[in-house]
Amino acid sequence: MAPERVAAKFTAYRELFRTKVKSTDPALAEQDPADRTVHWWRRTHPGPHTRPGYPPGALVVTGAGPVALAGRQEAVADLSAECWRGTGWTVTQDDNDGDGWREYDDAVPVLATTLELLAEHGPLGPVWWRYRRPGRHSLLDALENPDNRAAYNQRQKAREKKARQDHREWMRTLARADCGNIPKEESTWHYGPDGNRVEWTHQPGGRCWTCHQEHTERLEREAQEQLEAARAANAALRRCWTCRGSIGGKAGSELELSEKAGPDRLECPQCAADREAGELGPLVLPVPTRREQVAALVSAPDDPWWEDRVLHAKLYPSRGRRV
Ligand SMILES: [Zn+2]
Ligand SMILES: [Zn+2]
Repeated sequence: MAPERVAAKFTAYRELFRTKVKSTDPALAEQDPADRTVHWWRRTHPGPHTRPGYPPGALVVTGAGPVALAGRQEAVADLSAECWRGTGWTVTQDDNDGDGWREYDDAVPVLATTLELLAEHGPLGPVWWRYRRPGRHSLLDALENPDNRAAYNQRQKAREKKARQDHREWMRTLARADCGNIPKEESTWHYGPDGNRVEWTHQPGGRCWTCHQEHTERLEREAQEQLEAARAANAALRRCWTCRGSIGGKAGSELELSEKAGPDRLECPQCAADREAGELGPLVLPVPTRREQVAALVSAPDDPWWEDRVLHAKLYPSRGRRV
């Protein structure tokens, strides 16, 4: 039989299976007459029918070589596609990769095989090609619809689970500095290195409010401790040449040194700043007198500025005399 005629039979089957007749089900007796209909074949074969769609059709070909027989099954498949292909559905959402499912309520499942395969494996063997599905299957397997809604739902559930897991993993990268807590939201407050600038960010390693406060307080405490240590150290050094105050500057003043003054420092920061602002030129210490020079030969001078005075005498031989 020509593939066209075979295909036309499946089309005719579907038309027949689509026919609806009056239902004799007493449960529907109360319903509106228009709703009291049932597919003819369901009334004739009450079931139960567990799979969607119409009763399946089987195509068995024979009488030619394997290639010709395969071609014949394919030709019938192409010509009758409308009957068995079902309807494809997809849900447009950004997490399903365009995945979807098919529904076969208005389809005739078609199983095709060759007489040779049937003879070799029997009707329950893996001989059936279910149109739309690759490979050959056993009869029951071939009647299943693995691309149905339930399978899609399962894949979608797995995708959503994976997305939740990925999100949790990602949130873990946002663990806060110091306490290691994982924030509850994707975005979190972050405190810049100056401690004050607060920005909304996704960056890992930001500080939570509590840790930020503790961190800030610790920095302030450390700065204060350092300042006090510097103040004590500078108080023990020689005084400022100009104002005779601490070489580190007045305690609590803006310019007060937060570290121990270097050995070359002659003035406190304020006096040095004033000198620079007044363009007074470098501080030049008085040149040692001849008497001081003679005394220095006998014993080291008591003057904490002695070495600088000697140095300045060499650096500024003419200016030194002016002071
Ligand atoms: Zn924290
Ligand atoms: Zn000073």
